[in-house]
Amino acid sequence: MTNSTGTRSTRRAAIYCRISQDRGGAGLGVTRQEEDCRALCARMGWDVVAVYTDNDVSAYSGAVRRAWQELLAAVSRGEVDAIAVWHVDRLTRSPRELEDVIDLADRRGVELATVSGEIDLATPTGRMVARMLGAAARHEAEHKAERQKRQRRQAAEAGRIAGGGTRPYGYEEDRLTIRESEAEMIREGVRRVLANESLSSICRDWRERKIVGPAGQPWKPGGLRRLFASARISGRREHTPRSSWETTRPLLGEIVADAVWPEIISHEDSDRVRKVLSDPTRRRNVEGSTKRSYLLSGVLRCGKPKADGKPCGWGMSGRPRSGVPRYVCPNTPGTDACAGTATNAERTDDHVRDMVLAALESPTFMERLREQDTASTDLYDDVRADEQVLEELARDMGERRISRKEWMIARQPIEERLERNRARLAKVSRVAVLSGFVGTFEDMQARWQRMNSSQRRAIITACVRSIEVRPADPRKRWDPDRFVFDWVA
Ligand SMILES: [Zn+2]
Repeated sequence: MTNSTGTRSTRRAAIYCRISQDRGGAGLGVTRQEEDCRALCARMGWDVVAVYTDNDVSAYSGAVRRAWQELLAAVSRGEVDAIAVWHVDRLTRSPRELEDVIDLADRRGVELATVSGEIDLATPTGRMVARMLGAAARHEAEHKAERQKRQRRQAAEAGRIAGGGTRPYGYEEDRLTIRESEAEMIREGVRRVLANESLSSICRDWRERKIVGPAGQPWKPGGLRRLFASARISGRREHTPRSSWETTRPLLGEIVADAVWPEIISHEDSDRVRKVLSDPTRRRNVEGSTKRSYLLSGVLRCGKPKADGKPCGWGMSGRPRSGVPRYVCPNTPGTDACAGTATNAERTDDHVRDMVLAALESPTFMERLREQDTASTDLYDDVRADEQVLEELARDMGERRISRKEWMIARQPIEERLERNRARLAKVSRVAVLSGFVGTFEDMQARWQRMNSSQRRAIITACVRSIEVRPADPRKRWDPDRFVFDWVA
């Protein structure tokens, strides 16, 4: 490099590079900044005596910029009398810092050059430009939060890992490796939710078994709800936008991509469990209250013939008489329930249990259940196919191959079918419910003994659609033939 500025001696220049968050994809890496600055110094006729680089320091992080401090020290020692920098926003992080630089220029006669335009800090105009550029840089720093939000969304779409916070349950600290002991719990929990077991029942059971969350905390129903409903456990990435005024995340986000981590449960089971858990009509569980829970309310149907000879069909509910729990066709004003059937709750529960266990002991029954589950896999394929058609239609409209009106007409029947199939899908998967339960009659009896009524109900509804209760024969004290089972398979 040669001295080219006549009256001045060759300036000893320091190049200062700083990596900040990528600005709008400009990708100004250190190498690029340094190259540009070296070219700039050559144009200015400056000798590059040092390069100072601060790595990835954000404007608001408050971290010490070591290289920047060293550069200032070098200036103070009189070793450097020119600074080349790519942009003023690389040089200073705040108006105060800029004033320091201006002061330095005054006291030491330091010259400043930027690749993006020359700034002469010795003149009022140059200082004003520098201050404006500094203000612009600050403005950008303030918008960083907004950018980061966008980046999280991009990361979500790319199926990458969201960092920070406690590791997700079911995965190791790296968020990629499955922790098998926890994964097994997730699979069990999802099976139980799909079997209509309540979250508080699962939660109680997990607490008794000393199963804890990723931070070692006992589970709460709300936490289980989020865990089972998260797309993460099915190896998918979910984007849940949350505005600043919202304190809690919505339960379900938009599934944006397959993730880089492996799945613990299938997409299919995840879709089902998400559907079940987000269903506002989901049965609120009343267990834990001191009231006796009636295992079969809603399952038993009154079978007393009406005037037209057809059975009453009303769902029977639990009503004790003289302290004895019974199921009755309710005497509810304003309904056409006949109020003409009643059965002893305890004996009925026992009878239904024995019938269900006997059915489950039968290989033929289980075989038929498995066939039904295969049918539900077809249902799942139907749902996926319809979802794809909807997507394609939307794309066609977006690209104006079809009109908005055509799009509306085309999508309506598909959406209706989708809604129906999704609802059906949420109800099936019976084999999954029963896995881990089915065995010999004695085994099942022992397991049944340890189950709470929510779990028992799940087993029953996996096998039986409903049970009709015929009117009692007054000559018989207990008549099992009154009960007509509508088996699912
Ligand atoms: Zn009735």
